[in-house]
Amino acid sequence: AGHASLLDRAGDFPILSRQVQGRRLVYLDNGATTQKPVAVIQAESRFYEQSNANIHRGVHWLSQHATDLYEQGRERVRQLLNAARSEEIVFTRGTTEGINLVCWSWARSALKQGDEILITGMEHHSNIVPWQLLCEQTGAVLRVVPVTDSGELDLDEYRALLGPRTRLVGVVHISNALGTINPIAEMIAMAHEVGAKVLIDGAQAVAHQTVDVQALDCDFYAFSAHKLYGPTGIGALYVRYDILADMPPWQGGGDMIHTVSFERSTYADVPQRFEAGTPNIAGVVGMDAAIRYMQEIGMDTIAAHEQSLLDAATAELASLPGIRIIGTADRKAGIVSFVVDGIHPHDLGTILDMEGVAIRAGHHCAMPLMTRFGIPGTARASFALYNSHDDVAALAAGLRKAQKLFGTGPRDD
Ligand code: PMP
Repeated sequence: AGHASLLDRAGDFPILSRQVQGRRLVYLDNGATTQKPVAVIQAESRFYEQSNANIHRGVHWLSQHATDLYEQGRERVRQLLNAARSEEIVFTRGTTEGINLVCWSWARSALKQGDEILITGMEHHSNIVPWQLLCEQTGAVLRVVPVTDSGELDLDEYRALLGPRTRLVGVVHISNALGTINPIAEMIAMAHEVGAKVLIDGAQAVAHQTVDVQALDCDFYAFSAHKLYGPTGIGALYVRYDILADMPPWQGGGDMIHTVSFERSTYADVPQRFEAGTPNIAGVVGMDAAIRYMQEIGMDTIAAHEQSLLDAATAELASLPGIRIIGTADRKAGIVSFVVDGIHPHDLGTILDMEGVAIRAGHHCAMPLMTRFGIPGTARASFALYNSHDDVAALAAGLRKAQKLFGTGPRDD
């Protein structure tokens, strides 16, 4: 309260005017998924009302129209990431599928026994488990860059782990569990010096800052639309063209072939080679609308607003006794993860929920990272462009209430 908000866009998001538990919804679980503006909801329903047909196969007008909308969505993603060409964008179900595509197409054919995959100690399970499965099949070896006490990657250890056997580095751009912004440009340059390719997990980054895959010089970049105000079940994978053009298919079916006979099939050009079956066409239309919505506001405006919320939340938490913030890097996006003395994160989440404040409690699909900090999980508040300083105040008030209930807060005498 009393803070001037840089952005006031909550009115664009219908769900934010509903009540939960008889209270105003204070939605601070944006790291899990974001809410959707009217522009996105209407774009999807308008598609089904006006434009629905299957793509890339009809001779009829409506099919061509749907195909145009789908390809316009690809061009929008190209712009978002500043990729050199739209053929470098493959539509996926989300970040998880994008990482699996890199794993089962590129890595499965490129890696041999003894080759090394280097990931980091702050990866989401989706950037750990596919590589473990691949290592079991190929005899490749998984190595892990350690995390420091402040929740940053140890770059000296990273340098030491890179070597001639390193074929792939997989790193999260912004940690969903801590909010740390990793120095990926520097890490990519170091990986390229030893000839390794780099996959960036951009799930938490694209909604919060400008991303430029050409400036970063990365090889693979994956994200999900649902974290950037778009629909669930759709996302995209960027792959540098020369790499993508040489990658073998991973899922077979309609739309990804050139010719099929029982003796042999030939495959479509990229990116169609990686889009087997009828895709989530309405999802692409919704994602397109979500990207336009963010672009109209401006990524720098969004980033500045979220930074002010993060700063305020961090100051509020620091002013309460018995609260430890996990992840204290200088460069952080709008995520604050913390533990409270004497209150289990799940109990905290439940008490806050009764106040209408939605946060996430648990391991955040990053169990090895929790183990690194010797905790079972954290409570996490994560911000989006529609959050306000009133939301931060509601979080702080909920925390004070929880501490009072548990008898762990400051005494009020
Ligand atoms: N990586 C990170 C850093 C994430 O935050 C998430 C989503 N929590 C994912 C990967 C997986 O994204 P999805 O579930 O949309 O595939």
